[in-house]
Amino acid sequence: MATEEKKKASMLESVKAQFEAAADKMNLDKNIRKILSNTNNEIVVHFPVKMDDGSVEIFTGYRVQHNSALGPYKGGLRYHPTVDLDDAKALAIWMTWKCSLAGLPYGGGKGGIQLDPKKYSASELERITRRFTYALGDNIGPDYDIPAPDVNTNPQIMAWIADTYMSQKSPKERSKFAHVVTGKPVGSGGLEGRDRATGFGVVSTLRNWAKWRNTSLKGKKFIVQGYGNVGQWAARFLQEEGGIMVAVQDHTGTIYNENGIDAFELLAYTQMNNGGVAGYPKASEFDGSEFFGIDCEICIPAALGNQINGSNAESIKAKVIAEGANGPTTPEGEAILAKKGVDIIPDILCNSGGVITSYFEWLQNRNGEIWQMEDVIEKLSKKMDVSFKKVTDTAERYNCDLRTAAYIQAISRIEVAYKERGVFP
Ligand code: GLU
Repeated sequence: MATEEKKKASMLESVKAQFEAAADKMNLDKNIRKILSNTNNEIVVHFPVKMDDGSVEIFTGYRVQHNSALGPYKGGLRYHPTVDLDDAKALAIWMTWKCSLAGLPYGGGKGGIQLDPKKYSASELERITRRFTYALGDNIGPDYDIPAPDVNTNPQIMAWIADTYMSQKSPKERSKFAHVVTGKPVGSGGLEGRDRATGFGVVSTLRNWAKWRNTSLKGKKFIVQGYGNVGQWAARFLQEEGGIMVAVQDHTGTIYNENGIDAFELLAYTQMNNGGVAGYPKASEFDGSEFFGIDCEICIPAALGNQINGSNAESIKAKVIAEGANGPTTPEGEAILAKKGVDIIPDILCNSGGVITSYFEWLQNRNGEIWQMEDVIEKLSKKMDVSFKKVTDTAERYNCDLRTAAYIQAISRIEVAYKERGVFP
């Protein structure tokens, strides 16, 4: 419990330290610094849900809205035992930077429910989700705050949120509210390609990184932490680029094969195995505590925060870390990696493919359109390339690392909005 507490506190500390470093470097206006250091709204709800056995359980849900200078709050909902107010704050702040850097008309929000979804049946999860949505009430809305999937939430959960929210509106107006949430199943207004977008974006930043560093992804060994939506799509796309996946770690175990683990075969295996990689027959079991020290060129953390830290950063062999997860590297870990000359493609750039396509889904719903997969991937690819270039240009201009450069880009856009509009009244 003590280490868990420490781990949770430091996600918020990480995002704050990253912000301060960038604010110093860019000499950010002190009033704007004050505004951005705080979260606008913090909503905590406790709500009762009837379990399958007839008993009632009380759940705690969160939604933090950091800043809306650029538009409605946007960001995912996660279902995980570690979710709490500080986590939600940290993740909401990261969303503000991510949306700004990607050039989207959104601010940042994040939330979730503190629970282990594996402990509940599908019908219990449906009631939990619907009752949470009801408890949030008009604290979310298509022009106010738009949730999406995150850790342990998926298109089915988004469909329940949309349906619950829409069912509280007049039947005549119902269909106007489908874009209260993104990441819905395609049959319910979801976007073709939203499912693979984050993983695709991770690999697109790696492609850009390889070009920038005058190298190629072909034949490069890589390791992936987390084989959920982000990890498995990133692994498949990187394998298609010629990368060789040598190890995967998830909550069930760590597997290793120096000759390569086929990303598609592993996915098929996990689908038969409750989502877990443990026991995959074409790889051997590996000591989990040594995972980040495995010999490879590319490391993709795509699970939870604070995984690369002071205790393991020194052992890392990879030349580049592509942050599929939010906040996977602590400032202490990052300082060690910087000394070793390891590039970090920061989360707010690397995993922005998800929220970029959420924006496309929102536009699709607002305009009553149905977009095609090819268009989605093409538009996403262009946006990722533009963001990457902005970040590397800024890094060169300020002579700083990619994370600080990404922050400077993101904060500058918000600074302009405040300078133009002023602070009410
Ligand atoms: N949860 C994802 C993220 O952290 C997606 C958010 C969204 O699509 O709004 O970026």
